[in-house]
Amino acid sequence: MPEQNRPTNFIRQIIEADLASGKHEKIRTRFPPEPNGYLHIGHAKSIVLNFGIAEDYAGECNLRFDDTNPHKEDVEYVEAIKEDVRWLGYQWAGLYYASDYFEQLYGFAVELIEKGLAYVCDLTPEQVREYRGTLTEPGRESPWRNRPVEENLDLFRRMRAGEFPDGSRTLRAKIDMASPNMNLRDPALYRIRRGAIHHQTGDEWCIYPMYDFTHPISDALEGITHSLCTLEFEDHRPLYDWVLDHISAPCHPRQIEFARLNLEYTVMSKRKLTQLVEEGHVEGWDDPRMPTIAGLRRRGYTPAAIRDFCNRIGVTKVDGTVEMGVLEASIREDLDRTAPRRMAVLEPLKVVITNYPEGQVETLSAPNHPKDESLGSRELKLTREIYIDRADFCESANKKYKRLVLGGEVRLRNAYTIICDEAVKDDEGNVVELRCHYDPETLGRNPEGRKVRGVIHWVSASEGVPAEVRLYDRLFKRPDPDGVKDRPFQDFLNPDSLRVFQAMVEPALADAEPGTRFQFEREGYFCRDTRAAEEGQLVFNRVVTLRDSWARAEQKN
Ligand code: ATP
Ligand code: MG
Repeated sequence: MPEQNRPTNFIRQIIEADLASGKHEKIRTRFPPEPNGYLHIGHAKSIVLNFGIAEDYAGECNLRFDDTNPHKEDVEYVEAIKEDVRWLGYQWAGLYYASDYFEQLYGFAVELIEKGLAYVCDLTPEQVREYRGTLTEPGRESPWRNRPVEENLDLFRRMRAGEFPDGSRTLRAKIDMASPNMNLRDPALYRIRRGAIHHQTGDEWCIYPMYDFTHPISDALEGITHSLCTLEFEDHRPLYDWVLDHISAPCHPRQIEFARLNLEYTVMSKRKLTQLVEEGHVEGWDDPRMPTIAGLRRRGYTPAAIRDFCNRIGVTKVDGTVEMGVLEASIREDLDRTAPRRMAVLEPLKVVITNYPEGQVETLSAPNHPKDESLGSRELKLTREIYIDRADFCESANKKYKRLVLGGEVRLRNAYTIICDEAVKDDEGNVVELRCHYDPETLGRNPEGRKVRGVIHWVSASEGVPAEVRLYDRLFKRPDPDGVKDRPFQDFLNPDSLRVFQAMVEPALADAEPGTRFQFEREGYFCRDTRAAEEGQLVFNRVVTLRDSWARAEQKN
């Protein structure tokens, strides 16, 4: 990014100072996801921060899978994460797995044992909890804490060899059971997980290193200069530093914490997103209502809009919740500039133009974008029978209603004006068809001496094509679905988060490339659904409304 447009934040200030002082010549960051789910918009914040810094300061950013929990992880997630990072527009310098370092990590654990700084503990998980103490009471030392080094080395080797059952022993750091920081009360470094098949290392290992041991060492082995993580790791930093201070580490990266992104009307942790998928509340990880990168992509978000959003919200040390409107504004601004305009009628009502010749098909040209001529134009087809939206007709209404009424005149967008003569009704009194006449003198010019109420969109009945249109709303009814005591977040799912319409769309949309985005005039921004396209279906997802309708609704209340 050009220097004058770069975001500024406290982390970038630290980095600039480190470069200026010569502490580092080259900046190295990493994005370290655990492959136990799909990435969400919160991860995008971390990706844009880490990769953005590498890009702007001629550094490097690695993608590292933090894969020390074989039970919860899967290659499906590894592949999805790689795709998402690439789609966001970034290329990693190196692709690593924490599991690449299992042998080295084992060696560093042995080093700690030899220095008398780690021991094999035989307490059960319940006992460990009991011995740990509380925030107000110091913990008690494990009876195994002072095992001789030789015995620890022997037991640790046999843990690795698979001689002991899960949960029977752990390797623990020997730090301080009275520390006010609970993370320093002899934290576990290794646990036994026999029978687990790891997606990278198979059955090679039956002991697995803990995050707090793995992470600092992985960072150091990759020569990371600044290890950026979210605020909940602030209390782990003393342990991060302790590990690196007590092993022969090649360097000592600096951990810096920042606030995680929370977004209104959604949940963000992978655990909860997994529940939404597994309990069938959504169609899958890429359901367009999901806050996942895959969901946003399918919904029609652009990588540029997501990067822009991440830069807009900034990076601070203060936790907060961002309004959905901020995310929506990023994509709305992007698409307002770039999306070709089209017409789609969501709830078709037939209109017969009685003075229009039967069988005539008139080709009209319409610009793709009102403000950008370089986007060119497309052809529209006008015929005697067309569709307008049900919401654009009302038998009688006052002057504020800028649409069609009985006896009133409106312009068909990019075409002529029509005047409504008759509303045909069924037995129950529902309007099923309108009979109108048009004024052939009004193409590109206003009628003389008559007032046109407004402009409405339309589609030819015979030349238009049927398409399914999906309108999405917030996935949850509350801004903080997981913020209510004793109530699961699923209780607050919005039952109207998806509404489906059998629409008619203009002919130019029939062969829209899957994934392309349009503005449907007066309706919002839409994207052709890629999944439905694989089945040959023409489906459009609404990316975002034309205006921030939620902000307006909330103002009224
Ligand atoms: P989750 O609970 O959603 O699984 P996590 O922190 O466990 O989140 P990881 O895969 O471990 O997920 O995260 C990879 C990186 O992304 C970490 O550096 C983490 O701090 C960062 N990250 C995760 N969630 C957010 C968020 N909401 N905002 C900013 N950064 C995040
Ligand atoms: Mg995690």
